[in-house]
Amino acid sequence: MKYYLCMEIGGTNLRYGAVSEDFQLLSFSKIKTEALSDAVRKDDYINGLLQPLVKKYGSENIRCLSLSIASLMDEKRSMCYSSPNIKGFDNLPLADILRKKTGMPVFMERDVNTSLLYDIWKKGYDKSGIIIGIYIGTGLGNAMCIDGRIYRGSTGSSCELGHIPLYGLTEECGCGKAGCIEIKASGKALEKLAAEKFNCPVKEIFKLHRSSEEAKNTVNMCAIAAATEITILDPKHVILGGGVVEMEGFPLEEFINAVRVNLRVPNPRNAFRIELSSFDAHAGIVGAAINAAGIMGPLH
Ligand SMILES: [Zn+2]
Repeated sequence: MKYYLCMEIGGTNLRYGAVSEDFQLLSFSKIKTEALSDAVRKDDYINGLLQPLVKKYGSENIRCLSLSIASLMDEKRSMCYSSPNIKGFDNLPLADILRKKTGMPVFMERDVNTSLLYDIWKKGYDKSGIIIGIYIGTGLGNAMCIDGRIYRGSTGSSCELGHIPLYGLTEECGCGKAGCIEIKASGKALEKLAAEKFNCPVKEIFKLHRSSEEAKNTVNMCAIAAATEITILDPKHVILGGGVVEMEGFPLEEFINAVRVNLRVPNPRNAFRIELSSFDAHAGIVGAAINAAGIMGPLH
């Protein structure tokens, strides 16, 4: 048996574990990202976390280390350009320094892409054609899989759906550009509403205020972004996930209807279906193993 060591580095949580060659989760740990953020030597810190797993499974049985990260990265997936909420990840050649430190092959991929790979695997979809994932979390995440391969774009920065321009919006986005749709269509937008308008915890915003104009507008903005991509691509499957969709009272039917009315007739409107993501906590870990297996090729 061969194993994949996998790690998902998010702004808040760091998850890691071992995954078997047939993508079964064998061990799983979740800690705060804070200590990695504070560590001067990121390679020493990550290697320290992985050592017990290397001992347990045997270095000769480990195929690689595969990372899933909330970061913009280069097309070769060796450089993290920036990762909001994690210190020291700006222009960090993470894959290279970890390769040197651990002696293992190291792969990395954006978290939305590993999530989509996991969802496709779990649902058992035929991989031909285009499958997209819309993940409404802190930001408006998006991933695209074409004939079984994640589409990365020519510079590695495809699928930045949250950063399409919205006419008339002049506010500055976290990416440094003004007028991105994510300012109005994301968990961040809901956080702002919860704090400044409703004075309630963000996780209760749909439970308490789903019929408010402001909450409806946020959902509509997310739907407009989704409809834009579906209009261009006419995908075979559309998967919807992310923390906002999981929130109590999220108006799923209203979201689906708002996407539908913005699609052309007869198609893609008539063919349009939303399938929900698995929402599994280990999706990024197993998805990272699936990504590495796709790059390294079959075992036997
Ligand atoms: Zn932006």
